Amino acid sequence: MNDLHDIFDRFHWTRLHVDQLRRRQVDHEERDLEMDELRERVDQLATVNLALWEILRDELGISDQRLSEQLERIVARRAGAEPVGGRTCSSCGRKVPASRERCLYCGVGFE
Ligand SMILES: [Zn+2]
Repeated sequence: MNDLHDIFDRFHWTRLHVDQLRRRQVDHEERDLEMDELRERVDQLATVNLALWEILRDELGISDQRLSEQLERIVARRAGAEPVGGRTCSSCGRKVPASRERCLYCGVGFE
């Protein structure tokens, strides 16, 4: 369990660190190293999420459809909470928060 806490703690740290990086100029080499580290952390989080999802699905019998519906609810809630409102993805037709540069579902980039 400590490992899991560690992963989420480091994810929080990562978000703060990304904000700091945006505020100051760093050379390309430093930025590349940071990107590699971020990719590794995102991969860890994705793996943990997948593990958690498989436990929920297998132990509690929750369906993929149920997960998808909950995701849509959360995305819609976030989109609704934004002052400018959400947008509908032109590729998959799902509602996505306006602040997103890419669709949360299909990954298509917005102009
Ligand atoms: Zn989409």
